[in-house]
Amino acid sequence: MSASTSTPSFPHVGVHDSTGTAVPAPAAPVVPSRGRFRPLGIGEVVITGGPWAARQSTNAAATLAHVEHWLEREGWLGNFDATARGELASTRAGREFSDSEVYKLLEAMAWEHGRSGDPELDARIRAITARVAAAQNADGYLSTAFGRPGSARRWSDLEWGHELYCLGHLFQAGVARARTAGHDQLLTVCTRAADLVCEVFGPDGIPSVCGHPEIEPALVELYRVTGRRRYLEQAALFLERRGHHVLGEIEFGRSYFQDDQPIREATVLRGHAVRAMYLSSGAVDLAVETGDEELLAAVVGQWEATVARRTYLTGGMGSRHQDEAFGEDFVLPPDRAYSETCAGVGSVQLAWRLLLAQGDPRYADLLERTLYNVVDTGPSRSGTAFFYTNTLHQRVLGTVPDQDSAVPRAASSLRAPWFAVSCCPTNVARTFASLQTLVATADQDGVQVHQYAPSTITTDLPAGRLALRVRTAYPASGRVEVVVDEAPDAAVALSLRVPSWAHGATLTEGGVTRPVEPGTATATRVLVPGEVLVLDLPVTPRFTAADPRVDAVRGTLAVERGPQVLCVESVDLPGEQHVDDLVLDPDRAPEDVEDGVLVHGWLHRQADPAWPYGAPPGPDRPGEPVTAVLHPYADWANRGPSTMRVFLRVPGPGSR
Ligand SMILES: [Zn+2]
Repeated sequence: MSASTSTPSFPHVGVHDSTGTAVPAPAAPVVPSRGRFRPLGIGEVVITGGPWAARQSTNAAATLAHVEHWLEREGWLGNFDATARGELASTRAGREFSDSEVYKLLEAMAWEHGRSGDPELDARIRAITARVAAAQNADGYLSTAFGRPGSARRWSDLEWGHELYCLGHLFQAGVARARTAGHDQLLTVCTRAADLVCEVFGPDGIPSVCGHPEIEPALVELYRVTGRRRYLEQAALFLERRGHHVLGEIEFGRSYFQDDQPIREATVLRGHAVRAMYLSSGAVDLAVETGDEELLAAVVGQWEATVARRTYLTGGMGSRHQDEAFGEDFVLPPDRAYSETCAGVGSVQLAWRLLLAQGDPRYADLLERTLYNVVDTGPSRSGTAFFYTNTLHQRVLGTVPDQDSAVPRAASSLRAPWFAVSCCPTNVARTFASLQTLVATADQDGVQVHQYAPSTITTDLPAGRLALRVRTAYPASGRVEVVVDEAPDAAVALSLRVPSWAHGATLTEGGVTRPVEPGTATATRVLVPGEVLVLDLPVTPRFTAADPRVDAVRGTLAVERGPQVLCVESVDLPGEQHVDDLVLDPDRAPEDVEDGVLVHGWLHRQADPAWPYGAPPGPDRPGEPVTAVLHPYADWANRGPSTMRVFLRVPGPGSR
């Protein structure tokens, strides 16, 4: 057991690598006690430049304050003050789950404070924590929406009330604070609330679950920080109960909150996408802690089926607007993509857990795809406006949302400063604040680099300290240089992920260049300080077609470059013509140009018939030749209203 402890009041839950050796617990959101890889903490990986460093600094400089401002302005922070004063719940602001946004802000602030050590941020964390703590009941209960005079009684609406969901986000904030600043008031608030949950929902308690999964992974992580096994056992109870119709019937059906089928029996993810992601993440956490291979295999099978048949090219998940849910297999219409930013965050969380558990680079592949094309699409470059849904096809020019008012969650085709349901901005904030923890991992033998950004990676291996410096302009360039700054005298294994799209990649070491296949390229030997390994990933733009069963995009092609999905916007077409009028020439490969990727094609303005159906047309009649410059999808809608497409028409019998 490690002697290292940032939470001195609790027995430390040691982290064990694949050989069972205990190593110090890193400051990271997910710290399993066993698994194929161990995560590296915020002290071990620093992103030093490039787009992800820019995201982190914008998050710190703008997004955290923006979110805090809106939480005050909307009264969601004030709810805690009112609750502490014992005021009637009838004056409460926001939806029943608004407490969770305060907790996600606290989590984001905790990771950012751990990264920067900013004392002013530390003071803000303490101030918000004090307001939260003041609203907690003597028995540990904490909610501003239930259990007050004038509000519904505690636990009276498990289907929609989100009480346990909110506490889950509280626990994740407490974990972040404990791992970055030690045991403080926030962790005490967490354990008091968690102890109450274990009493109320324990083996002899209310035999049900929360309509929105989230407390499951949070309880496992709280166990990992505190060593209190009852939290792990409570997470197991919640996970095993769900699926046995313990919640009431609702209009969307029980699959909406994954209460239709036990998690061990399900074969694909279904229902509300964010709920499915959080639940699956909790299941992986539990399976890893308890060595439950059957449960882990069940989640892996569901993940595989979902990635194969229910995921957008961007990594986005969810094609049903009415219940923010997965559609049936291959129901992936681009113009009806819900693809909530939070579902992307949840998918990143699930893929990361599976990567830590099993080490398969396919998980890091999906994580990268989702980070670049969903999570990074959510916020504006300024970090103060956000997408909630992420359509892949915008048919009408949007209107610029009032930057001084909240909008409904899915009504905007341009980024809005805040939403009535504002889960996405805080989810993005906490992800960016802890982004460096997704870059690399370690095991007994060495280090694995999964994501490429200018960064430093330093960790202690059994053989000694390994310090690496990554130099790259990725994803603009596919050249990744890994400089060895410090290395043990013994052999170590340095593994570099080769993304699934990187056919023709090479690795150069010791002056020798060799081809490497998608998967993992590993150098296992004594590394010499000062040497440079160079991974060259071909990021030439490429056409991508969908499985023909994705009927909604049959007869179209998308363009990708490295990990980025590209799109065309009407502002990039002559006369700002509608993107639906662009017909791509599939015989001319897309080319890199200075400010994007150039494609060739024709502009073919559609006639507007009185009836849009008729006899099958002959060969397509291309119109006026045109070129268009595509840009990363994540950057769309940053230049004002435009129409936009990811999947572009090609000539053929389908083009009337
Ligand atoms: Zn959301």
